[in-house]
This record gives sequence, structure tokens and C-alpha cells, in this order.
Amino acid sequence: MNPIAFSTLPLTAPFLANIDSLGYHMMTTIQEKSLPHVVAGRDLIAQAKTGSGKTAAFGIGILHKLNPAWFAVQGLVLCPTRELADQVAGELRRLARGEGNIKILTLTGGAPMRPQIASLEHGAHIVVGTPGRIRDHLGRGTLQLNNVQTLVLDEADRMTDMGFYEEIAGIVSACPSRRQTLLFSATYPDDIRRATESFLSNPVEVIVESQH
Ligand code: ADP
Ligand code: MG
Repeated sequence: MNPIAFSTLPLTAPFLANIDSLGYHMMTTIQEKSLPHVVAGRDLIAQAKTGSGKTAAFGIGILHKLNPAWFAVQGLVLCPTRELADQVAGELRRLARGEGNIKILTLTGGAPMRPQIASLEHGAHIVVGTPGRIRDHLGRGTLQLNNVQTLVLDEADRMTDMGFYEEIAGIVSACPSRRQTLLFSATYPDDIRRATESFLSNPVEVIVESQH
């Protein structure tokens, strides 16, 4: 199969130029299979191994519909660990270059609460965090998710294995019911499918087998 260029997607010229400047010329297989549905606004379950480019698949999805002039949390990404949240935030910042002044905040456990609360008072367009800490902020009323347009569950299998189900369910219920939900995972066994099904609305499912 021939690789497909990002320029086949309905994205603005400056956004495409920035993606190209990152050295991303052709879509990876999971990007090729998921991005047309993601940019069309569909809910999606994407299963592909680590290192296959899943971050850009949901990152482009969040950014292409984000309004930089609207200073509200429009995108939320849940990750299993602080390290992964930092990596995702870094990739989103690179993808967001040139898209206006987009503020991306990382909220993870282990870090002191007070600076996170101060940052939240200044506002953010996108929040990337771990379920426990996000839930904590919701409980304190320091984070509002009522404007979330795109919710991403990254590494859903690991988050579920780590026992984050209750936190995730609480966070999902704090998001508007009219939203786009994207679930990315390396594996999608039946127990995780049953646990997460209710978070998605009529999702498209894409799988890239590991030999690709
Ligand atoms: P995953 O989340 O599937 O484990 P990542 O999103 O972390 O994978 O991406 C793995 C690596 O591939 C990263 O270094 C990223 O910069 C790179 N990458 C992603 N998409 C592309 C692309 N279309 N072309 C080239 N490199 C890419
Ligand atoms: Mg990843």
C-alpha cells in the first residue's frame, strides 16, 4: 500500500505546513485509517502498537477544530502516567505551533497542587493529565470541563489496568454529552471494551495489526 500524504486531509494550509515542518510527510498506517474519521468528527476506537503515531492522530483531531480565540478547555487528554502526559503535551505543542497562541496545560499526580491551580486560574485550551489528578481538580472546582469538544483516552488499556476506571467515569460525566470521544490503545480486550463502551457514541473502529 502506498503511503498517503497529510495534504489529502481537509486541514488549513498553515496547519499542513506545520505538520510538514515536523518531518511528518506521509501518514502512518493508524493515522491514515483514523484521521479521516477523526477530522469528520466521529467517535473512534483506534488500536495500534506503541510507536505507530497515535499522538498525532488525536492531536490533529483536537487542534483542527480548536478555536484559539475561545479561552476555555476545549480538549482533554487522559494518559496513564506523568511521563506519557508530558510526552503527549510536548507533541501537541509542536503540532500547535503557528495555530495561534494555544495554551496546553499538564495536570499530573505527584506534582504540587498549588502551581496547577494557579495555572488553571489563567486558563488553558487543552489539558493533558492523569485521571487521579484531573478528578481531584474537578472535586475542588478548580477545573471545568463543560466546554470540552474533544475527549481523548490515550493508552486506555494501561489506564484500566492501573485501576483508573472510577476516575475516568467521573471525568467523562463532567464533560458535555455532545462531544467527540477518541480512544487509543495498544490492545482492546473484552473487559476494557465493556468498561469503556458507554463513553463512546457509535464509534468507528480501526485496528492496525502488529505486523504493519
Ligand atoms: P504511539 O502513541 O502510537 O506510541 P507516538 O505518537 O508517540 O506513537 O509516535 C511515535 C513516533 O513517531 C514519534 O517520535 C513521532 O514524532 C513520530 N511520528 C508520528 N507520526 C509521524 C509521521 N506521520 N511521520 C513520521 N514520524 C511520525
Ligand atoms: Mg501513545
